[in-house]
Amino acid sequence: MAINITVQKTTKPKSKPDPAKLGFGKFFTDHQFMMEYTKGKGWHDPRIVPYGPLPLDPANSALHYGQSIFEGMKSYKAPDGRILLFRPRKNIERLNNSCDRMCMPAVDIEDTMAALKMLIKLDSDWIPTAAGTSLYIRPFMFGNDPFLGVRAADTYLFLIILSPVGAYFPQGINPVRIHVESVYVRAVKGGTGEAKACGNYAGSMKAQMEAAKNGYVQVLWLDGIEKKFVEEVGAMNVFFKIGGRAVTAPLEGTILPGVTRDSVIQLLRRDNVPVEERKYSIQEVYEAHDRGQLDEAFGTGTAAVISPIGQLHWNNRTITINNEKTGPLAKKLYDTLTGIQYGTVKDEFGWIEEVK
Ligand SMILES: *Cc1c(COP(=O)(O)O)cnc(C)c1O
Repeated sequence: MAINITVQKTTKPKSKPDPAKLGFGKFFTDHQFMMEYTKGKGWHDPRIVPYGPLPLDPANSALHYGQSIFEGMKSYKAPDGRILLFRPRKNIERLNNSCDRMCMPAVDIEDTMAALKMLIKLDSDWIPTAAGTSLYIRPFMFGNDPFLGVRAADTYLFLIILSPVGAYFPQGINPVRIHVESVYVRAVKGGTGEAKACGNYAGSMKAQMEAAKNGYVQVLWLDGIEKKFVEEVGAMNVFFKIGGRAVTAPLEGTILPGVTRDSVIQLLRRDNVPVEERKYSIQEVYEAHDRGQLDEAFGTGTAAVISPIGQLHWNNRTITINNEKTGPLAKKLYDTLTGIQYGTVKDEFGWIEEVK
């Protein structure tokens, strides 16, 4: 059933931000998509309206109990002017998986794709074109009952907002320093680690702040039980290249199944680089370093695409990886993935979807 989206255009278009000062998540386009869910009725009133604040009851259930999830993806303008999306259905499927974990209603994938494309087309003037810039897409959903009982809500709001964002690495892709967290944990099996559930991020901020005080831009999370096995980094999955093989943690319920992670695995397999999705300890990483076999390390995620890691700090011992230079594998993956996303490298996987 095709979705019938009403459109109310803004009468006060905003002026566009300076493309050199975009940063991340500071500016929003002229419109937002929204729809409501009511138990017994399903999703209703899909509409595009001027971007603006939401009226919320102070007893709103998401504010009190955190029944709230989100997604993150990007739209890119190709040099020939086409507007491209990278594997957007994977994000909507993951949104539905997050919803399932948090007892929230799924959205229809094709209806949501239609809404997303309509919104992007309407605000397409906002897609920045300078190298490395893009339009960040933030779909999100939350419980909207004015009720203080702890239970899954009967009503929900689903929205999509758009934010023009600058290049993640304005000076070119550059390795970062990472603190390996051994006090706080992010997730345990059976918890909510594999959902993009809002509370996971609030819970990670304390470790992040303490690491930042010591000059580390992100934390690397270890497993929540033994604090031994490598899980992921901030809002990125993580790969180590050890003795010619790429190693990353398996999807066993505690890490976020990244679209970038999956894409990197497919690219590595195509290029005959051995990939292992398995449990591996931070001790193994340090031992590989000491044997001279830790070739490279990098995070993968929508924001940075590939973020090389130049230094790790764990239990008072700091190691340097590839002399804090971007390694050849990270560079190649970055160039290939961003090339596919901006439409300048052939998309042999069928990952790109055009907004027409
Ligand atoms: C979003 C996210 C990722 C990366 O997922 P992508 O789909 O590649 O952007 C990894 N880890 C966490 C915790 C995340 O929230």
